[in-house]
Amino acid sequence: MPLTLSVDTARWRAHQERVLTSYGDLVPVAKGNGYGFGLSRLAVEAKALGVGMLAVGTYDELRDVQAFDGDLLVLTPWRPFFDVPGTSGGGVGVPTERLVHTVSRIEDLKELADAGTRPRVVLELLTSMRRHGLRSSDLAEVGALLDQVRFEGWALHLPLPTSGSHVTEVEAQIAQVAAAKLPTDRLFVSHLTAGELSTLGRSLPDTTVRPRVGTALWLGDRTAYRAHATVLDVHPVSRGDRFGYRQRRVPGDGSLVVVTGGTTHGIALEAPSHVGSMRERAKTLAQGAIEASGKALSPFGIGGQRRWFAEPPHMQVSLIYVPTSVTAPAVGDELDVNVGMTLTNFDEVEFS
Ligand SMILES: *Cc1c(COP(=O)(O)O)cnc(C)c1O
Repeated sequence: MPLTLSVDTARWRAHQERVLTSYGDLVPVAKGNGYGFGLSRLAVEAKALGVGMLAVGTYDELRDVQAFDGDLLVLTPWRPFFDVPGTSGGGVGVPTERLVHTVSRIEDLKELADAGTRPRVVLELLTSMRRHGLRSSDLAEVGALLDQVRFEGWALHLPLPTSGSHVTEVEAQIAQVAAAKLPTDRLFVSHLTAGELSTLGRSLPDTTVRPRVGTALWLGDRTAYRAHATVLDVHPVSRGDRFGYRQRRVPGDGSLVVVTGGTTHGIALEAPSHVGSMRERAKTLAQGAIEASGKALSPFGIGGQRRWFAEPPHMQVSLIYVPTSVTAPAVGDELDVNVGMTLTNFDEVEFS
């Protein structure tokens, strides 16, 4: 079997339900590789959750979430050079009634307002992320344009929760909106904790705050899914034997294990990017040093431990070295693979 993601569907869904309960009126996010599960599957899950709105990353991704029949919010802010349904005739197959654009520049808001179609829009405000968003100095111009669009609320894309509480920033932004005499009744946010949301529920009682959640929703229960690869070959080797594209020498007696999963799947020398703790980051740095000296830790586990790449991953397989002190796997054995879920293209996703 190729590089596979096995999902314990009941466990996965139980986690989604728990997140839905603790976050309230959330907007699931389905973008990129669908967090490893695939966009079309996330659309099915969002429908089963019974939420009213699903967010995608880009207009192109709308094509893959057709199974969801509620409102679709596009997180990438609209630009005049995008070919978008309902504004310039692009055909992504979503009725304009269900499509909600994100708008992050005053000139784009003007253009959409002038289109005469009254598109549904969420206005994004520039946050400490400094990615996209209107500045507070733009707000004076917004009021006159709101009648010509269907305004669905404000959006704040905030840094990850590890960077400190977001409550103050959200409150300050809403205060600026209120000072500009603009409606403050609806707000979409990213990366707020359930605790921060309940704090805001008290300090901004007249604002409905809807969190947009991807990682915590789909990937929050790591026991609900498992990435695994299959051993295709095992070759006994002696210290000094040459192997591989680069004809390196094996460092000692042991085995070379050929396993499914290579650069095509996103298997790389780097450690998964979502490793969080200081200790793990220190380990990742150490691996960088190892990589410089020609060795890197692979994501493939043998005997309960991640093993060294024998050489950088090939396109569809990887070569792993294990010393004789480790029992080599057999052809056909499954190996656990510790991969970043948003970085990996699985050949198969199995739902049990
Ligand atoms: C990706 C994204 C999210 C979801 O982020 P997660 O960390 O996966 O929860 C929310 N809002 C915006 C604007 C995004 O681009």
